[in-house]
Amino acid sequence: ANAPATNFIRNIIDADLAAGKHAQRHWSGQPGLAKQQLDGELDAAKIRTRFPPEPNGYLHFGHAKSICLNFGLARDYGGRCHLRFDDTNPEKEEKEYVDSIVDAVRWLGFSWGDGDETNLYYASNYFDWMVACAEYLIEAGLAYVDSQNAEEMRANRGTLTEAGKDSPYRSRTPEENLELFRRMQSGEFADGAHILRAKIDMASPNINLRDPAIYRIRHATHHNTGDKWCVYPMYTFAHPIEDALENITHSICTLEFEDQRPFYDWLLDHLAAGGLLQRPVPQQIEFSRLNLTYVVLSKRKLIQLVEEKHVSGWDDPRMPTLVGARRRGYTPDGFHLFAERIGVSKADSLIDYALFEDCMREVLNETAERRVAVLDPLKLIIDNYPEGAREDCFAPNHPLKPELGKRAMPFGRELWIEREDFMETPSKGYHRLYPGNMARLRYGFVVKCVGCDKDADGKVVAVHCEYMPDSKSGTPGADNYKVKGNLHWVSAADAYPTEVRLYDRLFSNPAPGSGGRDFLDDLNPHSIERITAQLEPALKSAKPDERFQFERHGYFVADRVDSKDGAPVFNRTVTLKDSWGK
Ligand code: ATP
Ligand code: MG
Ligand code: MG
Repeated sequence: ANAPATNFIRNIIDADLAAGKHAQRHWSGQPGLAKQQLDGELDAAKIRTRFPPEPNGYLHFGHAKSICLNFGLARDYGGRCHLRFDDTNPEKEEKEYVDSIVDAVRWLGFSWGDGDETNLYYASNYFDWMVACAEYLIEAGLAYVDSQNAEEMRANRGTLTEAGKDSPYRSRTPEENLELFRRMQSGEFADGAHILRAKIDMASPNINLRDPAIYRIRHATHHNTGDKWCVYPMYTFAHPIEDALENITHSICTLEFEDQRPFYDWLLDHLAAGGLLQRPVPQQIEFSRLNLTYVVLSKRKLIQLVEEKHVSGWDDPRMPTLVGARRRGYTPDGFHLFAERIGVSKADSLIDYALFEDCMREVLNETAERRVAVLDPLKLIIDNYPEGAREDCFAPNHPLKPELGKRAMPFGRELWIEREDFMETPSKGYHRLYPGNMARLRYGFVVKCVGCDKDADGKVVAVHCEYMPDSKSGTPGADNYKVKGNLHWVSAADAYPTEVRLYDRLFSNPAPGSGGRDFLDDLNPHSIERITAQLEPALKSAKPDERFQFERHGYFVADRVDSKDGAPVFNRTVTLKDSWGK
């Protein structure tokens, strides 16, 4: 593979490594933390990144960009990347999501903790230390308990053009604040009665520095810490501390956190000054998030699609989730290629879904074995082929990889061909079957069409032809026939009929919900079509998740959920060419 293209984040890392920025850091350890949070010196050659999902939903294609970026940097620089659950919101988080995130990251081909698969990180493991940090800020006069209600707080926050107003509780002494914060922790107050805020500057032009909330009261059971806590840290307070405790060197996040960076730096700087964290503290770096046409990449909207049953679940093959991608037949390598192609920058952009599909095609073209499937079957009868006779034709499993060998395809008197491969009255330029015309049955014989049978409504129900016995592919006589049409086929007596789902884009609008519409109004009513196709017999033994190119049609995968042993059903991953809108 080629060396990865450089980008502004790699430039920052290269400069830090050249300057030996992290070389001197030696983690001395903090009381009350498990060993995994104390692990290790950071030598000059190593960086640490993290992927910090909140376990409140399934991962989507946008997360894949972040995973490939963070785990990819750690891999390329010989560092490490932590999979960390940012689980500071007790109400919304569930173990089911934790498990699915672990599966998704692993599916993308990454591991964590220097190969120790059990080495997962949880923000909630640091709650003790976060409380200690908060109490330190209180004692240093850098935080106070505010007892305004939510409405008063909002009104006093000010606007972009107007400075905020100091809370009447802002002048509480450190002693008062510490006592109140301890009582918050002991469960004395109801949710929302008080809140702990950093004491910075209510007149700051950056609203995020106008005394941001850092701890709130929530009487809720947490998936990891149970009922131990009734105060929980705010994300903007918790995240920098998590990064610092884990010795993260480069904390990479999406652009909407750019305005939070001054608080990130403020907090870590004060906590390091107080001896609660080690220097150098982590550096936050923002990049632009993935936006993709024809899909939605917001958890809120994805949850709505599932809950309102517009799709069959999180793993519906039309969903832009990683569990959906897997069922759809998209490949981890395709995601890696896509991440590399779109690159990393600070410029907002909207990526065309066709680029994503091209990456998947490129990988599948290399890796997927070829098979034959007739999706819209029409009977072809070879009048001069002996009834009941059978012979094998041989088809290469991969045209670019002869080492993958050939497989036998039974040939007989009655075959299935595609309905569109016959025209009673041919249009201009049509070279396939029509009365009097010759075409090749790929890997088999040249046939000459002699007519067709119709039902009472005039619909063609069978096509008749005669075959040329000396024209078999791979024999010397094959070259005697120059024909333009080249059709695929499956022996009717041997075919495996099964369900095939033809998926298309979930939304018919490149920007679902744009122009003030409800995004649900942009759902594509034709995003799934279920057909019964006739497949070559070798496909009957396909294993769940096995991927193939169905010649002339596209890439398909044996559905990992609905396939039975010896009875797979198939999902179309992507067509051979981009045919959207044509
Ligand atoms: P959503 O906005 O869809 O709810 P989120 O950002 O809240 O997603 P998290 O679980 O907090 O979801 O995300 C984990 C990581 O994935 C974060 O570091 C976040 O920056 C990154 N991420 C989320 N969405 C995208 C995206 N569209 N492109 C790139 N990175 C993303
Ligand atoms: Mg988030
Ligand atoms: Mg978000």
